[in-house]
Amino acid sequence: MKSPISNVLSRLHKVKRTGADKWQALCPAHDDRRPSLSIREAEDGKVLLKCWTGCEVAEIVDALGLGLVDLFPDDRRSLSNHCTGPMRRPFDYREALQGISHEATVARLIVAAINRGDKIDPESLNRLAQAEQRIDAALRAVGGVQ
Ligand SMILES: [Zn+2]
Repeated sequence: MKSPISNVLSRLHKVKRTGADKWQALCPAHDDRRPSLSIREAEDGKVLLKCWTGCEVAEIVDALGLGLVDLFPDDRRSLSNHCTGPMRRPFDYREALQGISHEATVARLIVAAINRGDKIDPESLNRLAQAEQRIDAALRAVGGVQ
Protein backbone atom coordinates (compact mmCIF):
# COMPACT_ATOMS: atom_id res chain seq x y z
CA MET A 1 0.00 0.00 0.00
CA LYS A 2 1.47 3.29 -1.17
CA SER A 3 1.54 6.25 1.17
CA PRO A 4 -0.72 9.13 0.11
CA ILE A 5 2.30 11.32 -0.68
CA SER A 6 4.00 8.79 -2.99
CA ASN A 7 0.68 8.06 -4.67
CA VAL A 8 0.10 11.76 -5.37
CA LEU A 9 3.70 12.49 -6.44
CA SER A 10 3.75 9.53 -8.84
CA ARG A 11 0.83 11.08 -10.75
CA LEU A 12 2.26 14.59 -11.03
CA HIS A 13 4.63 16.00 -13.65
CA LYS A 14 7.84 17.99 -13.21
CA VAL A 15 7.97 17.15 -9.53
CA LYS A 16 10.74 18.97 -7.72
CA ARG A 17 11.59 18.56 -4.07
CA THR A 18 11.79 21.95 -2.35
CA GLY A 19 12.21 20.85 1.26
CA ALA A 20 12.18 17.87 3.61
CA ASP A 21 8.43 17.38 3.23
CA LYS A 22 7.70 19.81 0.38
CA TRP A 23 7.51 19.52 -3.39
CA GLN A 24 6.34 21.54 -6.32
CA ALA A 25 4.90 20.28 -9.60
CA LEU A 26 2.77 21.23 -12.57
CA CYS A 27 -0.83 21.66 -11.50
CA PRO A 28 -2.93 19.06 -13.33
CA ALA A 29 -6.13 21.09 -12.95
CA HIS A 30 -5.17 23.99 -15.20
CA ASP A 31 -2.87 24.58 -18.16
CA ASP A 32 0.23 24.98 -16.06
CA ARG A 33 3.62 25.79 -17.57
CA ARG A 34 5.52 26.96 -14.53
CA PRO A 35 5.01 24.59 -11.63
CA SER A 36 2.40 26.32 -9.50
CA LEU A 37 1.30 23.43 -7.36
CA SER A 38 2.78 23.13 -3.87
CA ILE A 39 2.63 19.75 -2.22
CA ARG A 40 3.30 19.12 1.44
CA GLU A 41 3.22 16.05 3.60
CA ALA A 42 1.77 16.82 7.02
CA GLU A 43 3.12 15.12 10.12
CA ASP A 44 0.21 12.70 10.22
CA GLY A 45 0.90 11.59 6.63
CA LYS A 46 -1.85 13.64 5.05
CA VAL A 47 -1.12 15.41 1.76
CA LEU A 48 -1.69 19.16 1.50
CA LEU A 49 -2.11 20.65 -1.98
CA LYS A 50 -2.06 24.31 -2.93
CA CYS A 51 -2.29 25.70 -6.46
CA TRP A 52 -1.12 29.29 -6.55
CA THR A 53 -3.49 30.16 -9.38
CA GLY A 54 -6.39 29.12 -7.21
CA CYS A 55 -7.48 25.65 -8.35
CA GLU A 56 -9.60 23.88 -5.76
CA VAL A 57 -8.08 20.83 -4.07
CA ALA A 58 -11.08 18.80 -5.29
CA GLU A 59 -10.30 19.79 -8.91
CA ILE A 60 -6.65 18.87 -8.49
CA VAL A 61 -7.30 15.39 -7.07
CA ASP A 62 -9.99 14.86 -9.70
CA ALA A 63 -7.50 15.69 -12.46
CA LEU A 64 -5.14 13.11 -10.93
CA GLY A 65 -7.85 10.46 -10.99
CA LEU A 66 -8.00 10.45 -7.20
CA GLY A 67 -10.51 11.42 -4.55
CA LEU A 68 -10.06 13.66 -1.51
CA VAL A 69 -9.90 10.51 0.58
CA ASP A 70 -6.64 9.54 -1.18
CA LEU A 71 -4.93 12.49 0.50
CA PHE A 72 -5.35 10.83 3.88
CA PRO A 73 -3.45 7.90 5.33
CA ASP A 74 -5.51 4.75 5.76
CA ASP A 75 -6.05 5.01 9.47
CA ARG A 76 -7.52 8.49 9.15
CA ARG A 77 -9.84 7.77 6.22
CA SER A 78 -12.96 7.18 8.16
CA LEU A 79 -13.38 9.32 11.21
CA SER A 80 -16.54 7.42 11.96
CA ASN A 81 -14.48 4.28 12.61
CA HIS A 82 -12.56 6.17 15.24
CA CYS A 83 -13.22 4.56 18.60
CA THR A 84 -16.90 3.81 18.27
CA GLY A 85 -16.84 1.05 20.86
CA PRO A 86 -18.66 1.66 24.09
CA MET A 87 -16.95 4.17 26.34
CA ARG A 88 -16.03 2.66 29.64
CA ARG A 89 -18.42 3.90 32.23
CA PRO A 90 -16.57 6.73 33.94
CA PHE A 91 -16.43 6.29 37.69
CA ASP A 92 -14.68 9.46 38.66
CA TYR A 93 -14.19 13.01 37.46
CA ARG A 94 -10.80 12.29 35.99
CA GLU A 95 -12.09 9.52 33.77
CA ALA A 96 -15.15 11.55 32.89
CA LEU A 97 -12.95 14.46 31.82
CA GLN A 98 -10.66 12.18 29.85
CA GLY A 99 -13.72 10.82 28.04
CA ILE A 100 -14.96 14.34 27.30
CA SER A 101 -11.53 15.38 26.10
CA HIS A 102 -11.47 12.45 23.70
CA GLU A 103 -14.94 13.26 22.40
CA ALA A 104 -13.89 16.88 21.87
CA THR A 105 -10.95 15.64 19.76
CA VAL A 106 -13.26 13.50 17.65
CA ALA A 107 -15.57 16.51 17.19
CA ARG A 108 -12.62 18.74 16.26
CA LEU A 109 -11.38 16.26 13.62
CA ILE A 110 -14.83 16.09 12.06
CA VAL A 111 -15.25 19.88 12.09
CA ALA A 112 -11.74 20.29 10.61
CA ALA A 113 -12.73 17.94 7.77
CA ILE A 114 -15.88 20.01 7.14
CA ASN A 115 -13.82 23.19 7.23
CA ARG A 116 -11.47 21.81 4.58
CA GLY A 117 -14.48 21.19 2.39
CA ASP A 118 -14.38 17.40 2.63
CA LYS A 119 -17.64 15.63 2.07
CA ILE A 120 -18.93 14.42 5.40
CA ASP A 121 -20.50 10.99 5.36
CA PRO A 122 -23.59 10.30 7.45
CA GLU A 123 -21.53 8.07 9.75
CA SER A 124 -19.34 11.03 10.73
CA LEU A 125 -22.43 13.10 11.51
CA ASN A 126 -23.74 10.21 13.60
CA ARG A 127 -20.38 10.04 15.33
CA LEU A 128 -20.71 13.74 16.20
CA ALA A 129 -24.15 13.09 17.72
CA GLN A 130 -22.63 10.16 19.60
CA ALA A 131 -19.94 12.48 21.01
CA GLU A 132 -22.67 14.72 22.41
CA GLN A 133 -24.45 11.74 23.95
CA ARG A 134 -21.21 10.48 25.51
CA ILE A 135 -20.46 13.85 27.06
CA ASP A 136 -24.00 13.87 28.46
CA ALA A 137 -23.51 10.33 29.73
CA ALA A 138 -20.21 11.26 31.37
CA LEU A 139 -21.84 14.22 33.05
CA ARG A 140 -24.65 12.02 34.28
CA ALA A 141 -22.21 9.34 35.50
CA VAL A 142 -20.51 11.80 37.81
CA GLY A 143 -23.86 13.05 39.06
CA GLY A 144 -23.74 16.34 37.21
CA VAL A 145 -27.31 16.24 35.93
CA GLN A 146 -30.77 15.74 37.42
ZN1 LIG B 1 -3.99 24.91 -10.80
